[in-house]
Amino acid sequence: MINKIAKDKIEFKDNVISFFNKSFYFIESSSSLMIDQYEDYDAIILDARDFDFTRIIIKKFRSHSKIEFYLKPIFLINNRDNEDPFIKELVDGSIVSFDQIPETINDINQIQMRITQLEQSVASSIEIQIFKKVLNYMFTRSVNNLKPYADMNTSIGYSYPIISVNYDTFEDAKVLEILEWAEKENLIWPDFHDRIYLCSNCKGGHLSYREICPNCNSANMRSEDLVHHFPCGYIGAISDFKNNIDTVLNCPKCSKNLRHIGVDYDKPSIINHCQNCNEVFQDYTVKAKCIQCATDTDVQFLISKNINVYKLTKKGRTSALSGIVSSEFTLSDEVVGTVNTKIFATMMHYEQERIKSNINLSSNIVVFYFSNIFDLYRAIGRSKEKSLLSEFVSVIRSNITPADFICINNPSVISVCINDETIENVKIMVMKITDIIEELVMNNFDRFQLEISTHAAPISKQISFEKQIQNIIKDLVEQA
Ligand SMILES: [Zn+2]
Ligand SMILES: [Zn+2]
Ligand SMILES: [Zn+2]
Repeated sequence: MINKIAKDKIEFKDNVISFFNKSFYFIESSSSLMIDQYEDYDAIILDARDFDFTRIIIKKFRSHSKIEFYLKPIFLINNRDNEDPFIKELVDGSIVSFDQIPETINDINQIQMRITQLEQSVASSIEIQIFKKVLNYMFTRSVNNLKPYADMNTSIGYSYPIISVNYDTFEDAKVLEILEWAEKENLIWPDFHDRIYLCSNCKGGHLSYREICPNCNSANMRSEDLVHHFPCGYIGAISDFKNNIDTVLNCPKCSKNLRHIGVDYDKPSIINHCQNCNEVFQDYTVKAKCIQCATDTDVQFLISKNINVYKLTKKGRTSALSGIVSSEFTLSDEVVGTVNTKIFATMMHYEQERIKSNINLSSNIVVFYFSNIFDLYRAIGRSKEKSLLSEFVSVIRSNITPADFICINNPSVISVCINDETIENVKIMVMKITDIIEELVMNNFDRFQLEISTHAAPISKQISFEKQIQNIIKDLVEQA
């Protein structure tokens, strides 16, 4: 009877399901892989019959950089006891039939309520951007620890699904790097679980271990027991004692039969014979050949890493709501032609005083926000972050006057103070700069479409500069 009432209220039309005041989209294996069209639904019901398809859809949502996607409630249907950790950790549950949709409403409400509590500001580094996503996911799902799972689909043999989903296959070593970073920032506590060894060249974990000849590095060797005959003192490989007729061992030196191990002979060790260079030796070398890059490394030089279970610290638990505070960002001091945020604020304060005292003077603040730049940093690598920002700065510099000044607020925000220009002219300059930067990125980074939002405004004479720029950045981030 309860089922019947519930069923009556569930409306189903063209894969869109409505119940109560919530809307669901039902994704089947025949549905589009373009997930952008699912942004406005409250939740997703995902048909899990096709394993690969299920994984792809989950990855698309959870690796997205927008909250509307990566925190979207996802429920599986037709899920046949799937033990894949990636799928289990990254969905909000399973339903057996659409009749159970009413049972998901509480979870959806809970997640949506928690999303409203999240702090949302510009990340000042790629680590903060990714780890804040992880913390947001954990907070909205009431998860307090990060567990490693043995996982064949990764290059290191382990995955932490909530983190790993943000990286491509073969980038799994970066998952360990961000965990090390988060541990240093006191966001998580480690509990030892296992140790792994990685290639010293590419950090891959798919290694083939071989015992090899110390003389020629060949793995083509034969090992046999070494035999010590007590009566005559002869020591030699066991094959020297064998004959073709029976299993009795005869000493090649004194011709006596060997009788009892431990009484008239023993096997003190093993002897190795290289089939390639004929060398005979007792101790072989162990090397690990990387399946990914073919580097052959002496095992003592492999990179060893601990695989830990991590618990959120108090700082970790509150950072979803308050933001991750890290003092690491120092780029502004390093890029020529820019000032850091503190000096920028001081200069802007004087600027404000200058324009207050003379109505003929004016000054403008321009903020550039590169909303998807972390996707680009991820593709080109952290080390190129500085040179890319330096390029942006020189584009801006060549379109403003030497008296104007530039500040890199963080890797995705650059602000500029432009003096004694009308706001109309400033807006034209900003459009020109934006076009040049977009084109520069597109031509140099594989047609990457950098999304730039900008805001230009006269400097306020009423509110403090800090307040004004804070509001501008907040608006830009929320609109992007
Ligand atoms: Zn390698
Ligand atoms: Zn050899
Ligand atoms: Zn003998």
